[in-house]
Amino acid sequence: MKLIENWFSERYSDNLQLSFRVSDQLLSIKTDFQRIDLFDTYDFGKLLTIDGTVQMAEKDEHIYHEMITMVPFYLATKRPESALVIGGGDGGTARRLLDLGLSKIVNVEIDSQVVELSRRFFPEIASSLSDPRVNLIIDDGIKYVSRSKEKFDMVIIDSTDPVGPAEGLFTAEFYGDVKRILNDGGVAVTQSGSPFYQPFAIRKATGAIRSAFGNSLSYLAFIPTYPSGLWSFTMNDPGTGRNEEIRPARYFNKDILEGCVRLPQFVKELIA
Ligand code: SAM
Repeated sequence: MKLIENWFSERYSDNLQLSFRVSDQLLSIKTDFQRIDLFDTYDFGKLLTIDGTVQMAEKDEHIYHEMITMVPFYLATKRPESALVIGGGDGGTARRLLDLGLSKIVNVEIDSQVVELSRRFFPEIASSLSDPRVNLIIDDGIKYVSRSKEKFDMVIIDSTDPVGPAEGLFTAEFYGDVKRILNDGGVAVTQSGSPFYQPFAIRKATGAIRSAFGNSLSYLAFIPTYPSGLWSFTMNDPGTGRNEEIRPARYFNKDILEGCVRLPQFVKELIA
């Protein structure tokens, strides 16, 4: 990616973009699946982008990774012991699942280059992928889930947006397979984009999850480097949850768990 006067910009619409001033461009490659760029930024540390969209920044990755793991973990009716992660080749999701005490994690990432560059540039985050409790598989998550005979307590779809290799991760068919490999009382969650700039993502995720599970639950977080800052996640609704003391992290805590599912009216209407 070519920088204009050392600024990386992610375009949200024809009329708006978010720009980061960059001190260094660390990498720019085209893989079999996508274009990957890595920058060193002044305000957010190292920044990973795929096809021109921000995936992970050192300064706020904890918000995304805590929210995609801890909310479904604490809402599950039975304490999860095992998880399947689809995508997540940076290792951030597996890292939080290990912190939560899971004993078995299978992480299926389609693009080995994401793993390699994360190991090189984000070693603290990517070291989770070398943990003996984590089985890293380089494969298409859609195919993996359709063939899997193994069952899990959690399935986490930590993917790119619903275009390119991630498109099929937002379909009813895919969630039919996800449901089949979930243990009773299990939870499945996906990142579902910015309700403001990508309303189609939360709608697609909600439709797909509802058609497989008959229900859905969306929740929100504030992630400064993602479009509009307001980010959504969508999961099946596990019902009453369980009684377990909630360990606060850096963004996530008991209040966030209670509040993140309370949706603004425009989001309620989007998924009605
Ligand atoms: N935090 C991020 C976000 O929402 O912007 C997601 C980060 S993670 C790097 C996304 C990963 O999903 C990418 O590495 C991409 O290669 C992977 N991915 C996309 N489609 C996939 C598929 N069908 N199977 C497995 N991994 C997939």
